[in-house]
Amino acid sequence: MKSRAKQGIDSQARPVTGYESGDGQRSRSVRRRSRRRIRKKRFYFFLVGILAVAAFFAFFFTDILLPIRINELADKDGKKSGGNDMSDRDWQLLLVNSSHPLDKDYSVRLKTVQNNHQVDERIAGFVTDMIEDADSDGVSLLICSSYRSVSRQQELFDDEVNKYVSAGRSMDEALAEAAYGVAVPGYSEHNTGLALDIVSPDYQILDSGFENTDAFQWLSENAYKYGFVLRYLKDKTDITKIKYEPWHYRFVGSEHAEKIKEAGICLEEYLEKYPK
Ligand SMILES: [Zn+2]
Repeated sequence: MKSRAKQGIDSQARPVTGYESGDGQRSRSVRRRSRRRIRKKRFYFFLVGILAVAAFFAFFFTDILLPIRINELADKDGKKSGGNDMSDRDWQLLLVNSSHPLDKDYSVRLKTVQNNHQVDERIAGFVTDMIEDADSDGVSLLICSSYRSVSRQQELFDDEVNKYVSAGRSMDEALAEAAYGVAVPGYSEHNTGLALDIVSPDYQILDSGFENTDAFQWLSENAYKYGFVLRYLKDKTDITKIKYEPWHYRFVGSEHAEKIKEAGICLEEYLEKYPK
C-alpha cells in the first residue's frame, strides 16, 4: 500500500513534474511568443501613429500653412495674381488674342459670382452689381461662361477641332476653323478671369440671335458703366480674328469701357490709339 501509495505519489508526481517541465517550457515559450507578438503589435501601432502624425503635419503644412504663407508673400511683393504687380491700366487692358498669349506665369485670384462662375476677384463686385441692376430693370442676365483654366480651354479647343475633322476637313483646316470659334489654349480671354459670356435665360444659344434679346439690349446700353465692353465686334473680326460674339464681354474698367464704346472700336485699336 505504502509503496503503491508512494508509487502512486511518485507516479502522480512524475507526470506532474513532467507536465510542469514539458508544458511549463512550452507555456513559457508561448508567453514569450505572445510577448513578442504584443511587442510587435505595439511597434506597428507606434509606426502607424508616427505615420498618421507625419501625414497630418504634411497636410497641415502643404494645404494650410503653405498657401497662407504664399498669399502673405504674394501680398508683400504683389506677384501672386498676374495682375497684382501691374498697374490698373495694365491688368484692365491686358491684351490676349491670337498673337498675344497669356503669360505662362499669369495666375489669378478668383471669386465666385453667379451660379458658381468664377472671375478675377477684382471684377467680382462689378459683375454682381451689373447683374443686380439689370434685374431691377426687369432684365435677367445669365452668365454661361467665365474663368476657364488653360487645360479646360484645351478640352474645348480639341472638341472643336474634332468636330471639323469629323466633318471631313484636313487637320490644318480644322485647326484654323476651330481657332476662329474657340481660342487656342493660353490665347483666350477666358483664361484671364476678365471675360464673361452672358446670355438671357430665354435665349441661351450662342449665336447672333442673342442680339434680339432684352439682355443684349440692356448690356449694349449699360455694360460700360460696370467696366465691360463687347469684345468681338461684328465689323472688327479682321482685327480680333474672332467671329462676332454678342455674348462675350470683357472687363476693361469703366473709364476705358466708356471711351471704347463711344469710339466703336475694339481693344486692339484702343491700345494702338492710346498707347502707354
Ligand atoms: Zn467668351
